[in-house]
Amino acid sequence: MTEVKTEEKVEKVEKQEKPVVVKKFRKPSKKKVCAFCVAGEKTIDYKDVAKIRKYITEKGKILPRRQTGVCSYHQRELCTAIKRARNIALLPYVGD
Ligand SMILES: [Zn+2]
Repeated sequence: MTEVKTEEKVEKVEKQEKPVVVKKFRKPSKKKVCAFCVAGEKTIDYKDVAKIRKYITEKGKILPRRQTGVCSYHQRELCTAIKRARNIALLPYVGD
């Protein structure tokens, strides 16, 4: 009887061991450069739908800066441009 008990104990101890945590390291992504700064554009034309389209999702949401890499100044310009384009129905408020 005693032998069986000890075996059980050993098994329990083995189970209590912490699972090995494998850390997933993300690759350091390349720093994105603002496309508008590169092109040297100060203002963003709200009529240029083809350009603005890249910065909204399928559902019509404006993409965040961390995804597109646009600088803070151009993100603000882009935001107003998108809103203007929506207002005159060049872009959808809600996509499908
Ligand atoms: Zn910029």
